[in-house]
Amino acid sequence: MASICVCARFRPLNSREDGEAICITRSDSQSFSIKDEKDEQYMFSFDKVFYEDSEQADVYEFLAGPIVRDAVNSINGTIITYGQTGAGKTFTMEGANILEADNLKKGLLPRVVDELFDAINGCGEATAYKIKLSMVEIYMERVRDLFDLSKDNIQIKEHKSHGILLSGATEIPILDGEEALKVLCGGIANRAVGETQMNAGSSRSHCIYMFTIQKDVTNEKRVSSGKVVLVDLAGSEKVEKTGAEGKVLEEAKTINKSLSALGNVISALTSSQHAKSLHIPFRDSKLTRLLQDALGGSSQTALLCCCSPSLSNSSESVSTLRFGARAKHIKASSSRVLNINSKEDIDRKQQEISALNDVKQQIAERILKKLREKLDAETVNLIGEEFVMEGLLLSDPTTSGSMITDEEELNSSHESVITSQTIASWKEATQKLVNTILELRRENVIMKEEWQVMKEENKVMRQVRKRIKAKLAQTKKLYLVMGIGFGVLASSCFSFVLLVSS
Ligand code: ADP
Ligand code: MG
Repeated sequence: MASICVCARFRPLNSREDGEAICITRSDSQSFSIKDEKDEQYMFSFDKVFYEDSEQADVYEFLAGPIVRDAVNSINGTIITYGQTGAGKTFTMEGANILEADNLKKGLLPRVVDELFDAINGCGEATAYKIKLSMVEIYMERVRDLFDLSKDNIQIKEHKSHGILLSGATEIPILDGEEALKVLCGGIANRAVGETQMNAGSSRSHCIYMFTIQKDVTNEKRVSSGKVVLVDLAGSEKVEKTGAEGKVLEEAKTINKSLSALGNVISALTSSQHAKSLHIPFRDSKLTRLLQDALGGSSQTALLCCCSPSLSNSSESVSTLRFGARAKHIKASSSRVLNINSKEDIDRKQQEISALNDVKQQIAERILKKLREKLDAETVNLIGEEFVMEGLLLSDPTTSGSMITDEEELNSSHESVITSQTIASWKEATQKLVNTILELRRENVIMKEEWQVMKEENKVMRQVRKRIKAKLAQTKKLYLVMGIGFGVLASSCFSFVLLVSS
């Protein structure tokens, strides 16, 4: 079991902090202590600490190099930078400039590009590689395509064999390093255009760079692929400190919400390893949903906590470092980190996957069979469809659908851990559906009763109306009789008066 690689990086003091006290004391390359403004001291240990004098190349070599090399061999990897605005996240990712040639300042992205093309250019003729690049940002809970600004609400979807996907996001095929940098430059420029349109700052959105490396080995039936995802998170500073108002406050709240969702996912992942609880709130924000594979165990993950070394920023730095310390406890599932490099491996894993799929199918059928005994066919079919839609089922059990055939799936899962998780999620989903159905039935009964009462009331009303109508008719008759009576009386009186007078 490998855990997430968590590192901390302190940038040099900037011009605003010039002359300020430094709040960190180095112990070694993994540990240090930090003092906050109240003079409280905290000790932290990470996989590696990059101090103010660290070099971009060292950060790349420790944090990203292994991930990039594995991605060439079809293992997914994610690198995340976290920290308050101005702490050095974008400097680490992009460098002073994405086209920066200076080796001292060159960031992770151009180095990722260099290593990817070095690796694939030196791999021999038997293997063909294709690299594609996507770039999106999450702003106010909307995912925008940075290669096509008209796509401003990209949906995040989960594919049964490809995992989390950005549905419809532009993927630009990259043929060489120079072209990759130009494409990245275009995406970054579009980010700036978006910022002005939205009146937002780059630190107010999360930026995601996604390289997909497709590997096609001659004499092997399948094409495998690996991803390197780099995430430059929005600034994590607290709202109170920035004194934000209006739109800026709204942005800050959305960022805080997504970063707390990230924190909650991390907590749930850490506690689930002890409590075996399976619910991880990945769906609470676009960011956590997008990082589901990275954090949930299907990919290798490196987190860099970027901090200022100055005393005035020490409380923000402590909260950044605490976040990193929590993340350190996540253990990645080794089952998802598989290197597929031989034909035998592929065949063996294919057999394992097909056996697992058979088990999944059987369990699904058994659950649906049990449900059929209790519920009507239509409802059970709906549940079946729901299973398929939620990705809990590989294919509708009523149809003999094909199982997973993509090689990515070989990377994605095949151990019993996943089986038990799948079964538990099925059970949970079934239980939820059964509860919903029972609830709907209860509501139906109540509505029927209310309908009955209304019908009764209607009946009574109709009777009352009938009675009133009858009374009115009677009254009318009475008036008529009285009118006739009066008429007769009046004419008699008149005749009498005439008689008397004559
Ligand atoms: P963030 O993306 O976290 O908001 P930036 O990466 O934009 O912060 O960094 C803020 C400023 O500090 C930039 O001007 C950047 O060049 C500088 N900076 C950050 N980290 C370093 C570093 N390690 N060495 C030199 N300058 C740095
Ligand atoms: Mg930035």
